[in-house]
Amino acid sequence: MKPESFPKNIRPHIIPEHKGELVYRCLGCDREYGIEKLLYTCPDCGMVLLIHDLNFAFLKKIPGKKWRDIFDYRRMIKIPALKGIYRYHEFIGPIIPLSSVIYLGEGHTPLIEANYLLQKKVGMRFFFKNDGQNPSASFKDRGMASAFSYINFLVQNKLVSDVLAICASTGDTSASAALYASYLEPNIKSAVLLPHKKVTPQQLSQPLGSGASVFEIPGVFDDCMKIVENLSEKYNVALLNSKNAWRILGQESYSYEIAQDFEYDMSNKAIFVPIGNAGNITAVLNGFIKFYATGIINVLPKIIGVQSEHANPVFNYYSEPDAQKRKFIPVTVKPSVAQAAMIGNPVSMPRVIKLVETYNSLAGKERVFFVEVKEQAIMDWQITANRHGHIACTHGGECLAGLVVAVKRGFVSKKDYAVLDSTAHALKFSGFQDMYFENKFSHEYGISPDKSLVNFPVLIHPKDLKKVPAPGKPLKESDFKTFLNRVSDEIAEILNLKNK
Ligand SMILES: *Cc1c(COP(=O)(O)O)cnc(C)c1O
Ligand SMILES: [Zn+2]
Repeated sequence: MKPESFPKNIRPHIIPEHKGELVYRCLGCDREYGIEKLLYTCPDCGMVLLIHDLNFAFLKKIPGKKWRDIFDYRRMIKIPALKGIYRYHEFIGPIIPLSSVIYLGEGHTPLIEANYLLQKKVGMRFFFKNDGQNPSASFKDRGMASAFSYINFLVQNKLVSDVLAICASTGDTSASAALYASYLEPNIKSAVLLPHKKVTPQQLSQPLGSGASVFEIPGVFDDCMKIVENLSEKYNVALLNSKNAWRILGQESYSYEIAQDFEYDMSNKAIFVPIGNAGNITAVLNGFIKFYATGIINVLPKIIGVQSEHANPVFNYYSEPDAQKRKFIPVTVKPSVAQAAMIGNPVSMPRVIKLVETYNSLAGKERVFFVEVKEQAIMDWQITANRHGHIACTHGGECLAGLVVAVKRGFVSKKDYAVLDSTAHALKFSGFQDMYFENKFSHEYGISPDKSLVNFPVLIHPKDLKKVPAPGKPLKESDFKTFLNRVSDEIAEILNLKNK
């Protein structure tokens, strides 16, 4: 639909104007800094930052109902810059002109109602949000679209040049950063640091394929992160980890998308998010807070953060019921199939602490909960989900295992609809599925396969059948006929097929 065809009262808003005034605000000392340059931590106290719009109060002048109409109408617009996360431009990056926006197809991922039997098994109504259907096959693309649109804006305005984008990654951040950087060739190049042998082959192939400089580092993600921080302090590079507040800002679209997909009715909704570096849950909390503050939603949904027992610092922190006594202690991670969340010292922890407090106090009651799950449960539930028509990655399995725990602990009830983030595509983590089927997990994982879920291909090659086709070597007609019948009969026998 063309802008001039929209209803009169919507038309002035359909193409967003940029009236925001964004600043970085420190989570520690509340100091504010201009956004003319990239800043990751507070120059005064060293704490992480979040981006705030000093003109946010103006957004409240438009009633919630009108905002809802604006976003619903924007769904119909064909301008690429408004097709992704910037459908919510006024909330996501109101200073970014549309001419700077990078859109590679991120966001607005499908919300898929769980298979009926699966819902019955769990005892709850729930949906998967399939974030594997983003361009680099994980949710990280929303935040990257935001960070790279901002960098592109700086480049176009000659505020920076020859940018080297750099990040540490458990696999998906680097895949995403490398993709967006390569789209901005020749202005931006990228370099990624990965923990050696701690990312899947698919995740390693992604930045290589995008032409990034790829470095493998001994240790785990937390070690890579320290090196990247060291590099960004000493050298002129653009840090693309979620320490970068632009990433968080873009990822807020996740909350807005869910709100819009439920017609902005957030009553009886419970949003499940796996936690690694805690960037995603920060964005989810902040997103719902902003929509609530502007009356676009009238209820704050429950938020349930999920961690594996093998990487559970956030869960541990909140397992102390007395807020005064809580103390954050980083953990040493153990191997986890939720590998992209295998982080012992989450960068966004201060953001989570602050936003959880704000969220609960706005809601007037406890609305944010944390659960931990076993590695075994993650794998069992991932495979069970995928046997019921889903494409959940291990973190999607982690969310589902988390839902089962949350039901038991009474954090959610049968009245609720749960939304589980399948944060990446199942194919990125198919190696863990192989390990499960082949019973090849080392003992540290503590995972053994449930035999009823194991699946193997069956090679059909009758022993006495001498002649079988091969590439470039078709069989003679009579030999092929024999081959055809013998193989068909064998399959029919295994499947117990009845004659017509
Ligand atoms: C990054 C990532 C996570 C963890 O998200 P955080 O924002 O680091 O908490 C979970 N799942 C997948 C697939 C990821 O790539
Ligand atoms: Zn500070």
